[in-house]
Amino acid sequence: MTQAHTIVTRFAPSPTGYLHLGHARAALIASRRAAEAGGRFLLRIENIDATRCRPEFEAAIMADMAWLGIVGDGPVRRQSDHLADYAAVLDKLRARDLLYPCFCTRSEIARSGIAPHGPDGPVYPGTCSLLSRDHALSRIAAGEPHCWRLRMAHAAEIAGPLDYEEEGRGLIGCDPEAFGDVVLARKDCRGSYHLCVTHDDWVQGVTLVTRGEELRAATHIHRLLQTMMKWSAPRYAHHALLTDASGAKLSKRDGALSLRQLRAEGMPVEDVLRRLDL
Ligand code: GLU
Repeated sequence: MTQAHTIVTRFAPSPTGYLHLGHARAALIASRRAAEAGGRFLLRIENIDATRCRPEFEAAIMADMAWLGIVGDGPVRRQSDHLADYAAVLDKLRARDLLYPCFCTRSEIARSGIAPHGPDGPVYPGTCSLLSRDHALSRIAAGEPHCWRLRMAHAAEIAGPLDYEEEGRGLIGCDPEAFGDVVLARKDCRGSYHLCVTHDDWVQGVTLVTRGEELRAATHIHRLLQTMMKWSAPRYAHHALLTDASGAKLSKRDGALSLRQLRAEGMPVEDVLRRLDL
């Protein structure tokens, strides 16, 4: 088998709103890259956030993809069907003392006032990493809500220097420590974006991650997790985001140019594809 045939790409939307033109562009980039290489294109629904993900948004993703004529190879993977797999990864990291439970609330972290800002927002000051094991276990036993954070300094030391391959830019050095002790299991679920996306790219054999440049920085954390778990690393190709007429990036929250709205207004799919700037 030639290298070209091993290309596996994916589109991994979260059903937290309606897809817009930016998502259509991301899906098309991933499916074209696979098709050009005679590879496979996968669709994955990243729905671990039960508070924000809705079945109607997932149904809308399927309808939008069908309208665009973008078809995934093989079954759609839904992250909510694989929570036990993420829990098993967490167990392994916990057994290596790479995780600690954190009981802080968002407002406590904000109030601590000492949280410097990392590339991904505020960096957690590490308060709960200092709790004794027995104390933390008793709070868990009492049912206190908690997330699980990575002992970043420890993990980065074990992993040593890291880089990732960005298409067209070569090897990029990683600095995962700039993100601090990131959350690998949210309070409401046994997983987090960083853990689940990295696990799934590996388990699904994804060889080329194409995604928007707003996620480029997260790759530093993903490379660290891949290294800690001995998961093979894909190549990455981060693409520029579509912007609206004022230059602002399109956002689900603004309901900007949702695909279903364009469809309802009678826009022919050919016109949508033409507007994707590909
Ligand atoms: N689920 C993520 C999102 O909708 C994208 C994940 C990724 O491509 O790494 O923003």
